[in-house]
Amino acid sequence: MDPESIYKSVVEKDNQYVMPTYGRKPLLFTGGEGCRLIDIFGKEYIDCVAGIAVNATGYSNQKLVNAIKEQAEQLIHISNYYYNIPQANAAEKLVQITGLSKVFFCNSGAEANDGAMKLAKLHTKKNSFISTNNAFHGRTIGSLGATANIKYRDPFVPLVKPATFVNYGDASAIEKAVTDDIAGVILEPLQGEGGVNVSNAEYLKEVREICDKKDLVLIFDEVQTGFGRTGKWFCKDHYNVQPDILTMAKAIGGGLPMGAFAACESLSFEKGEHGTTFGGSPLVCAASLAVMETIEEDNLLENAANMGQYFIEKLSKMERNDVVNIRGMGLMIGIELNHECGYFMDAAAEKGVLLNVTAGNVIRLIPPLTISKEEVDRVVEVIDSIVRPN
Ligand SMILES: *Cc1c(COP(=O)(O)O)cnc(C)c1O
Repeated sequence: MDPESIYKSVVEKDNQYVMPTYGRKPLLFTGGEGCRLIDIFGKEYIDCVAGIAVNATGYSNQKLVNAIKEQAEQLIHISNYYYNIPQANAAEKLVQITGLSKVFFCNSGAEANDGAMKLAKLHTKKNSFISTNNAFHGRTIGSLGATANIKYRDPFVPLVKPATFVNYGDASAIEKAVTDDIAGVILEPLQGEGGVNVSNAEYLKEVREICDKKDLVLIFDEVQTGFGRTGKWFCKDHYNVQPDILTMAKAIGGGLPMGAFAACESLSFEKGEHGTTFGGSPLVCAASLAVMETIEEDNLLENAANMGQYFIEKLSKMERNDVVNIRGMGLMIGIELNHECGYFMDAAAEKGVLLNVTAGNVIRLIPPLTISKEEVDRVVEVIDSIVRPN
């Protein structure tokens, strides 16, 4: 079949058989290399979406592909009733890079947050959480309770106990919101879906102190900010603030569905208190190890920090007069415009750049950590060239 027919048939089947939750773009990709994706017609794109901060090591990374191939040949899945070589090694590595004590493996970010909240409830014997406005923690019944956007939460609200939401960046608001039933505080050290909102050391340190003082469990959701996205292993490393529980997903498995959370020594589930069929399978753990090793061997933390800085410098020189603010850390960058900018996604794709928009008016750039200067230059050129419609 020719590309046009394949494209048409995929769109038809998708429309007919897949629940229309995503509002798809008219794009169909078949492969990629590094930061570049190729669509069915052979057109090349620089990808600043990276599967939503998942594809940290870039497309067709040979070390990752080989690790998955070799593990698939050997053993894909085994029950958690048994020991598992890649899982033990991935756990050791995660403990090393998080500075926490023990790990639980699950399959997504929402599940990681669910598990973290279960763990906090179990240890404090309390039920509620404090979360922040604009926070995104996932879409399961549990994690939705801590997700701020009422568009996601309201239709399901009798099923979850929503957190108490306070303004992001305001530590005293957290202190004021503490009641006898609060088990913990959950927050992203840098909000992603909420519009790339950067916090600061003072805020996070104060929140840490409040949690210590009031015996609350502090959960950092680093699902999006983890694994080098901000130029360090975790965003918390910029601030030297250690949570009690750290949740991870997105980039952790190199694109395989995987999540995890790590907790401090005093917080652990015991036998039978939590579990999942797929969590920590040999396959995803082998992929995760390859991702972590690649980040180290290819100096991707350094590249993310350097290219992030270069990106922001270049973006700041754009001629656009509709830019309110450019912010971010490492390769998690937001460009806030003074108007809704959803149209940017299609306009940039037309010119060979993939990006997405959060919070309505913030262009978000979260490319693979391998991006080069030349690619950054091209992305900025394209963003600069997109004119505001009327
Ligand atoms: C994406 C995301 C989640 C949810 O992860 P899923 O794997 O989609 O369940 C949770 N928290 C943050 C900060 C995220 O960016």
